[in-house]
Amino acid sequence: MSLPPERLERFARHIVLPEIGGAGQVALSRAHVALIGCGGIGSPALQYLAGAGIGRLTLVDSDTVDVSNLQRQTLYDPAGLERPKAELAAEWVRRFDPALDVRAVTSRIESRNAADVIEGVDLVLDGCDNFATRLAVSDACVQLRIPLTSAAIGRFQGQVANFAGHLSDSACYRCFVGDAFDADDCDTCAEDGVLGAMTGMVGSFAAMHAIRILLGGITALGDPQWGRLHLIDGLKPGMRSLVIAKDPECTACSGR
Ligand SMILES: [Zn+2]
Repeated sequence: MSLPPERLERFARHIVLPEIGGAGQVALSRAHVALIGCGGIGSPALQYLAGAGIGRLTLVDSDTVDVSNLQRQTLYDPAGLERPKAELAAEWVRRFDPALDVRAVTSRIESRNAADVIEGVDLVLDGCDNFATRLAVSDACVQLRIPLTSAAIGRFQGQVANFAGHLSDSACYRCFVGDAFDADDCDTCAEDGVLGAMTGMVGSFAAMHAIRILLGGITALGDPQWGRLHLIDGLKPGMRSLVIAKDPECTACSGR
């Protein structure tokens, strides 16, 4: 499969990179990514994933745009106040690149519906604002053998990691946070505050991390770094990384 001339032109700066090339761009154009949370992390992540030509996008968010979101959620403007974020984000994608196939999901993701929403995708990027959804999404990813890029933020700290809990030697998100947060639906941004540009850094980092997964086994960029947690300190600034071990007692992924 090759790309039509107008797509070659659009993605010329990717294709010229030896780490992506024509084969990598074709792989991106065939990929289906589900984005959980179209907020501060989801906005730049979506803009860079759509910019990268990810062929199919499922955008999930049950929230509507509030005026306090505009400080960091770059997909939205005052004309969208009180409208569903997932629908506005899908409209943005259609304007930006009509060649991409996009679907909006406005229901809240819980353990009862997570698998239905993400079934069939190649990758899930989770940048949502609560642990209960994150754990439901992670468990569904393990069950369906879908890789997960997880990105989170609190104040000036960002966390980004790629998980493949369905692999025998690789941790899942639940191995990392444990079972204590299944009922936790707090919005930490409302309580703690967050600098808008910090969500931009973390969301962009997550988009690049997702691309690592999508190019796995295809180009030289494709080292997904499973289970390696990158901690981004926006104040210092700096970054350190650590490896999360698979928990042999994990209720989601042990025995896989
Ligand atoms: Zn696990």
